[in-house]
Amino acid sequence: ADGPRERMKSAHEIAAKLYYHVLTLTEQGADGRNYVKERGFTREQIERFQIGFAPDRWDSLTTILSKRQYSLDLMVEAGLVGERESKDGYFDRFRNRLMFPIWDGQGRVIAFGGRTISDEKPKYLNSADTPIFHKGQTLYGLHLARPSIRKEGTVILFEGYIDVIAAWGAGFSNAIATLGTALTEEQAKIIRRNAETVTICYDSDQAGINAAFKSANILEQAGCVIKIADMPEGLDPDDYIRTYGANRFKSDVIGASLTFMSFKMRYLRRGKNLANESERMRYIEEVLSEISSLPRAVERDHYLRQIADEFSLSLEALKQEQYQIYRANR
Ligand code: ATP
Ligand code: MN
Ligand code: MN
Ligand code: MN
Repeated sequence: ADGPRERMKSAHEIAAKLYYHVLTLTEQGADGRNYVKERGFTREQIERFQIGFAPDRWDSLTTILSKRQYSLDLMVEAGLVGERESKDGYFDRFRNRLMFPIWDGQGRVIAFGGRTISDEKPKYLNSADTPIFHKGQTLYGLHLARPSIRKEGTVILFEGYIDVIAAWGAGFSNAIATLGTALTEEQAKIIRRNAETVTICYDSDQAGINAAFKSANILEQAGCVIKIADMPEGLDPDDYIRTYGANRFKSDVIGASLTFMSFKMRYLRRGKNLANESERMRYIEEVLSEISSLPRAVERDHYLRQIADEFSLSLEALKQEQYQIYRANR
């Protein structure tokens, strides 16, 4: 007989099939279908990512699982089912939500992300960690993306499931996402095993910019070469693709990706008036301090020249200054 972990996984597969069936074929899925239509998902996207809909009922999945002899206590542990406080029954944990199956590296369903289609809180209800699901060791879409990641040697990292799905629709098959938490070292190692170059394409709000910094540092530690997509303020990748289309996403966002250093420089510039001498000097100091932490001499040289050119400064003076900062910080 199957062990409890295998039971948990097969139950997730049953759930994924149910949700997909409900979304694509049933009356109970009508609200979900409307939502999906309004957001512009295609049939191909729904199919590839096995998007589904959890009906607005308390016992759809629970009934099926119990008919199929799944222990409901085990299903509680698996995160699919809740137990009533009175302990006299069980209920479906995901209700009235658009459902995104989350797969392990082998393509088995091990968790779900569930998005409300109304304005219920939380916006996303995601599976908690269970014996078969560890958020910090899982990357959304990896098993689907792996062939093209390997082929291209590069991966695009997003914040949201929906961004991965939109990117695939725009022609990027090498797209993955974290699961609503900061990128972990384990995830960075998994990424590095599959590709050397990572393009971080996070939301361009303040939270996304901060997260991009953190992820870039972790990925750099893991030995990845980092690029950061040029996402205009206030948009996320899915918004961008829907507003401007796949071609502009390709050329102006992914194609215009910055190196981590250029991203830092742009960040340091924000809110400074570089025509003002003291603000300009402060900017240059800050950039030199970043440059002095670059490990490779050719890189340091490249950015020192860039600063020298932009501000008509002598390269020699900049080099000396940068070296002093390096000595001081050692
Ligand atoms: P949408 O376009 O539907 O709003 P999104 O992908 O833009 O979705 P974000 O708010 O940018 O959503 O969040 C990105 C990711 O963070 C989501 O895919 C989800 O994994 C996670 N997330 C967002 N909100 C929550 C929440 N309230 N609880 C748990 N995880 C969340
Ligand atoms: Mn966001
Ligand atoms: Mn977003
Ligand atoms: Mn979005």
